[in-house]
Amino acid sequence: MEYQGKSVFGGIAIGPLQEYHKSDSLVKRVKIDNADAETDRFTAARDEALSQLQGLHDKALREVGEANAEIFEAHQLMLQDEGFIDAITNMIRSQNVNAEFAVASQGDNFARMFADMDDDYMRARAADIKDVSNRVISILQGVPQGGISGDEPVILLADDLAPSETVQLDKSKVLSFVTRHGSTNSHTAILARTMGIPAIIGLDYPNADGHTGIVDGYKGILIIDPTDEELSLYRKKQAEDAEKKRLLLELKGKENVTLDGRKINIFANIGGVGDVASVLANDAGGIGLFRSEFLYLGVDDYPSEETQFMAYKTVAETMAGKKVIIRTLDIGADKKADYFHLDKEENPALGYRAIRICLDRPEVFRTQLRAIYRASYYGNISIMFPMIISVDEVKSIKKIVDGVKAELDGQKIPYGDVELGIMIETPAAVMMSRELADEVDFFSIGTNDLTQYTLACDRQNPKLEGINDPHHPAVLREIEMTIKNGHAGGAWVGICGELGADTSLTETFLRMGLDELSVSPGRVLSVRNAVRNIDLSK
Ligand code: PEP
Ligand code: MG
Repeated sequence: MEYQGKSVFGGIAIGPLQEYHKSDSLVKRVKIDNADAETDRFTAARDEALSQLQGLHDKALREVGEANAEIFEAHQLMLQDEGFIDAITNMIRSQNVNAEFAVASQGDNFARMFADMDDDYMRARAADIKDVSNRVISILQGVPQGGISGDEPVILLADDLAPSETVQLDKSKVLSFVTRHGSTNSHTAILARTMGIPAIIGLDYPNADGHTGIVDGYKGILIIDPTDEELSLYRKKQAEDAEKKRLLLELKGKENVTLDGRKINIFANIGGVGDVASVLANDAGGIGLFRSEFLYLGVDDYPSEETQFMAYKTVAETMAGKKVIIRTLDIGADKKADYFHLDKEENPALGYRAIRICLDRPEVFRTQLRAIYRASYYGNISIMFPMIISVDEVKSIKKIVDGVKAELDGQKIPYGDVELGIMIETPAAVMMSRELADEVDFFSIGTNDLTQYTLACDRQNPKLEGINDPHHPAVLREIEMTIKNGHAGGAWVGICGELGADTSLTETFLRMGLDELSVSPGRVLSVRNAVRNIDLSK
């Protein structure tokens, strides 16, 4: 059977289909008749969770030592806490509800209680309670905890995937993503592109867990239980793809230069340390966008300065002197982490996000800046700031940066020469680009957000895919204006949004005078190929 969706990234994948189970979103309230039996179900699931945790504790103790194993002990203690257990069993009995619902509700209650406490350590325990509750719920439901079961790589089918879920997946086990919802500019789609795997969204698949599937990422097609002919046809296409890739790889080591001699930098976008290998494999000249917020997603608490320092240092060292542009925390909108305690907003894309949070919570910002500056000593690091709308914001940022540098100087901690840039992703920043250029070393145009804000089109809304068009002349004019104003103020200008990889526009960008394109690692060589076939003298 063939199903049609929308392509996010091309390529062919063949393999077993697996449905992604969200751990906590499938819990429904069900009225039960026998509270005793339901209480027994809960007790059995709790015992199973305790024994799983004992197993995890012993494994961690063997492999990563006492300190890291402690977390599983703490989770066991929570499952033995009488207050927590009584709250769950009382709810089952007094409201005649299913055990899953009682665990989810009381898990939420207790997590909220901890989250509101006046103590960092206690607040961090809120995420542990949710984790423990999710473990019990998945045992009750008989499904694996959110993630991939088994060792074989799979084609992952999901209703939707939040960025926080995507980052937690074992990437070596995902051949392809197929989701029912989502939009081509969502961060899950962007992650699929970064991973360079075929991906489809907006595809209403049936229950097909365990069946064989083929994903044609070029056409946005999923075939379930393919015939032998289909299998051999797509294996042939896979082989052709591999050949095309091999030909592109012949461009490794070649310059990004047009036929008439104009050069441009082609860098790559990454979401984490794990993506650097493919940056090097595709011969990118640097990293034009390190989406640092992914370090903050899929974890239970703020990553420490040390954790961040290690990540940035590893990337800088692996890139061995090539430019690495780290974008500071761009959390909010579709990228959420519980421990930030962000309020629910009517219009999250227009809300409390990115640099707004960093300027409002300077301690979070300073920790990140210290980590980046410390890492800058080990490579060629630049920093850029997201969602800028005004010169005042940049001045406030620079004050904080100066404070961080002074602190490091005081502690005799060395750091490198760090270029500072801003993302141009709001129409306000475009309009102020001449003044902003005087403040910074470079601009990087975020066409994903710039398109959404210019055209007043939520990038997450699949209904607006047709009109959320980065080719709109308004967006192209903004890009041209930004380049002109950037250069007038002495700043170099790049594009790091998805539009940068659109080879139908490469010539246009070159004619506008763009200095850099930063694209998914898997697109670097096809953009190089486009550049090498352009003749600007004609
Ligand atoms: C952009 O908005 O174009 C961009 C590169 O940032 P992000 O997609 O992470 O919002
Ligand atoms: Mg953006």
